[in-house]
Amino acid sequence: MPTCACGCGEKDAGRKFKTGHDQRLRSHLEQEVGGLLNLKELVNSSYSYSNGEIPLEKFRAKLAEIFRG
Ligand SMILES: [Zn+2]
Repeated sequence: MPTCACGCGEKDAGRKFKTGHDQRLRSHLEQEVGGLLNLKELVNSSYSYSNGEIPLEKFRAKLAEIFRG
């Protein structure tokens, strides 16, 4: 039986998440980075770095800025 993808360790047959746990994970990820706008910045920065649009140092600085809060 697959384990819920949110990281709670609970099992749920045939589904990626137990009911409501996708929202729980979304909420947790937002809190980890300091809110929805920071999450957006994180995704945008990761995208830019993966496309070679910004160098590693700039990406690293952005991450520090995001996680510093
Ligand atoms: Zn879960």
